[in-house]
Amino acid sequence: MTKPLQISFVQSATDVADLPPSPVEVAFVGRSNVGKSALINALAHRKQLARVSNTPGRTQLINLFETPTKATLVDLPGYGYAAVPGRIKKGWEKMIVGYLLGRKELAMVYVLVDGEIGPTKLDVQMLDHLRANLVAHTVVATKQDKVKSLRRDARKKELAAGCQLDPNDVVWVSATSGVGIDDLRTIVNTHLKIVSNKQGSAKA
Ligand code: GDP
Repeated sequence: MTKPLQISFVQSATDVADLPPSPVEVAFVGRSNVGKSALINALAHRKQLARVSNTPGRTQLINLFETPTKATLVDLPGYGYAAVPGRIKKGWEKMIVGYLLGRKELAMVYVLVDGEIGPTKLDVQMLDHLRANLVAHTVVATKQDKVKSLRRDARKKELAAGCQLDPNDVVWVSATSGVGIDDLRTIVNTHLKIVSNKQGSAKA
């Protein structure tokens, strides 16, 4: 097993403007109920670091986590929860997109797509925004265990095509079975460590 991601919870915020400056940051984004909290817990190998909820849309806060080197991981509120009034929903979505397109510390945005459901209209819109604005991003397909093994190859192709990607460019994970978690840990660690390399070379 790859070493769990060493992150600890720092604070919750309701507005991206309240996020402190960071030497380097990665963000996790996805529609409500995509499995974002479960995935962050699996990456950190902790049970309750991010709160897994059976009530979609409840986590409307931005949760900030920090590594020992002060790199930050931002867990953004899930978008697209139907029961949230349109006005509020639009407000969040605008805030999230504003942050993703404007935050200069961002080294990588992980866009979570439900592996069983595939990309929704909002997921595609999110990817379009990121692409159009040249924001570095990685698509992570969640809940791999929910796709029957016989369907997995076809599903990989369909999901990637829906995101306009090559199947090899999508990272498939399951927080439940642990599939892909090690690979994603390695990827996230690489992005979070960019800063120590940068600082190291700046000092040298
Ligand atoms: P969030 O709203 O994106 O943070 O989603 P959660 O992490 O709270 O997960 C939403 C629901 O999906 C919960 O009932 C989880 O138990 C379930 N879930 C999350 N990840 C997985 C997974 O990898 N496999 C399966 N089968 N269920 C998952």
